[in-house]
Amino acid sequence: MSNTQSTGIDYLLDLNDRHSQAFIDLSSERRRYRGEHPTEIAALKCMDGRLHLPVITQTALGIIQPFRNLGGKFDLGWPFFHTIIDQWVRYSITRGRHCLVFVTYHYARGDTHRGCRGFNYDTCAAKDAAIKLKDQFIRVYGKGAVVPIVCGIETDLDALVLHGEDDNIVVDLAKIKQTSQIELEELLSSLYPNMPERIVRDMIPLVRGNIRHVAEIRASNRPIADAEHKEWVLGVGRGFDWLHLINTAFIVGPFDPTLSVAIETAAKLLKGNIDEGRIDPNGVVLLTNTAFRDEAGPEYHLAREKALFLSKFAQDIIKEKVPDLLPHLQVLTGFTDMDTRKFETIERCDSVPVSKKKSA
Ligand SMILES: [Zn+2]
Repeated sequence: MSNTQSTGIDYLLDLNDRHSQAFIDLSSERRRYRGEHPTEIAALKCMDGRLHLPVITQTALGIIQPFRNLGGKFDLGWPFFHTIIDQWVRYSITRGRHCLVFVTYHYARGDTHRGCRGFNYDTCAAKDAAIKLKDQFIRVYGKGAVVPIVCGIETDLDALVLHGEDDNIVVDLAKIKQTSQIELEELLSSLYPNMPERIVRDMIPLVRGNIRHVAEIRASNRPIADAEHKEWVLGVGRGFDWLHLINTAFIVGPFDPTLSVAIETAAKLLKGNIDEGRIDPNGVVLLTNTAFRDEAGPEYHLAREKALFLSKFAQDIIKEKVPDLLPHLQVLTGFTDMDTRKFETIERCDSVPVSKKKSA
């Protein structure tokens, strides 16, 4: 992963080209993997750019469905969120597949202040919220085909911290060395005595991938600076898993009824990255993206309308709440075909017109 701080719209479009090509090239590999590991996997996580589960579990793109929001805060009572989750569960069940939901929170073992801004760095509060959300899933879906688990993501080493069915039993994968099938099966069965065997078998590759990834991070002696915020993209919407680089984007999903607050927070974090000299102030992008699958039907046109609406919505909030970010902002609006991960541009603007009322 070269991080020669390439930024800006053209960089993003090029990145999408390459990832879309890789996604298409991997389609038979993904089908093979799916045949072997049919469990549908979702991850509920913070918009923080460091939390990239395909990277930290060494899993092919398109296997883990990400849902992102500020702090990883979600509530099945949110109208749009519960519709999307319920669609996903029904889709899985009709195909005879189990569902595994990673309910995540994040922190850094070396310094509280590298933890979650969405929770004011209060890891206990973040953990409690994750446990509450897991319990909500159990209340709604029972104990059966849908299994939610609480999982911490420790970002200094990119380690997963698995919480058992008993909330007090916790295993930090950075402390696990053994990776044989039997040892991992034993580990997971002791954490999750009621988890269907099918899910255990489909979770093992992710656990093994994370143990391997942590060993690589240790061996590379990754400097801590790399784990600090350097995001230069504010992503609004869905269908972002092609944006595959750590520390690149704050992504705000459309699930939260107080979406405007999440956008404002992300905009402030971006501005902070500029003010503290961590990123190039001339390459900051507001990227709005929506997802569709069926190019022939209304879904395609709806995705387009939604992208235009969300982009305007986000720009209005930034103008009102974080106007100092505007002079730095480039705007890219489009939608992504989920079958190819190809992003189609609807609008781009390399600088936002700012009304110059305060001239010196
Ligand atoms: Zn966070």
